[in-house]
Amino acid sequence: MTEIIAKRDIRQLSLEQLTEYFLAIGDKGFRAKQVYEWLWKKSAKDFDQMTNISLETREKLKAEFVINHIAVDEMQRSEDGTIKNAVKLFDGATVESVLIPTDKRITACISSQVGCSLDCHFCATARLKRMRNLNPDEIYDQVVAIKEQSESFFNRPLTNIVFMGMGEPLLNYHNVIDSIDKITNPKGLGISPKRITLSTVGIPKLIKKMADDSVKFNLAISLHSAVNDTRSKVMPINLKSSLEDLADSLQYWYHKTRKKVTYEYVIWQGINDEEEDAKALVEFCKIIPAKVNIIEYNPIDEGEYQQASDEALGMYVRLLEENDIVVNVRRSRGKDIDAACGQLANKN
Ligand code: SAH
Repeated sequence: MTEIIAKRDIRQLSLEQLTEYFLAIGDKGFRAKQVYEWLWKKSAKDFDQMTNISLETREKLKAEFVINHIAVDEMQRSEDGTIKNAVKLFDGATVESVLIPTDKRITACISSQVGCSLDCHFCATARLKRMRNLNPDEIYDQVVAIKEQSESFFNRPLTNIVFMGMGEPLLNYHNVIDSIDKITNPKGLGISPKRITLSTVGIPKLIKKMADDSVKFNLAISLHSAVNDTRSKVMPINLKSSLEDLADSLQYWYHKTRKKVTYEYVIWQGINDEEEDAKALVEFCKIIPAKVNIIEYNPIDEGEYQQASDEALGMYVRLLEENDIVVNVRRSRGKDIDAACGQLANKN
């Protein structure tokens, strides 16, 4: 009777584990470095691409391992140049990633989970249930795919990465941090952590953990309201951890990292468009050094959420600026192909 042994995905192994493997089969430790470079830096999809590895060793690797890779299943291009990818994972699940070109930057917006468990009422991804976490390689590969698109379609390098696609990155903490290690490592993509932003609903315990782990990337918090009742209505996570808990974790973050945060903020008609809402935001911005990105609302249905008036937007900007808080107003990109913030929902 033949026994079928499932082959392991070699990209789940750390460099240390790969080194152990090579030593265990009587090979040299440095072989691990060579293979690791093929797997990450050179994104090899096949062991036979590893031309500086002997045929015999390649055969051994093939017998034991597979190399899993994502595949861009479908690519849509917006009239503003934005590209949205439907990305197929090795088990057939799909996530979306977005390339956002501007004059100065090309940004990759990537997903960290299949679906999401957080139920923010204004977000299309929340309508999908959370299926699973992405592995580090599945996150890394989204960046590689967009880096290639950036070079082939725009003839420009990828400059920034934002974890603002599908899912809550902090609820996939270990794999997200692992992927960022590989993205920033010279043995991987060698992209500076200063060009990476992790966006989160703000889970206090995990914000503190990031601070303890001395992470070097930027942190953005999806705030949307600095009034507990209002925030709890639009983001149920706020019922579990209040603005006070969030503030406490942000103070811890700043104390340890000395890094500013960005608050992402959408202004909705009849929800948070009064002066008292803006004043609460101003006060929240005084807790630690911070700037505000006001994001245009991208409607996901005919529902209760509507973009607030230009007057409300102007009122927010004036109050923030009067208090010396940096504020940027972000226009949506890729709306025509459902690629804008909060619209990622595997529609096709
Ligand atoms: N879970 C993470 C990252 C994904 S969402 C987080 O919540 O931060 C990325 C950003 O898009 C967040 O700031 C989110 O609040 C915002 N967003 C969600 N739905 C939106 C919508 N319909 N219009 C505009 N922004 C939206």
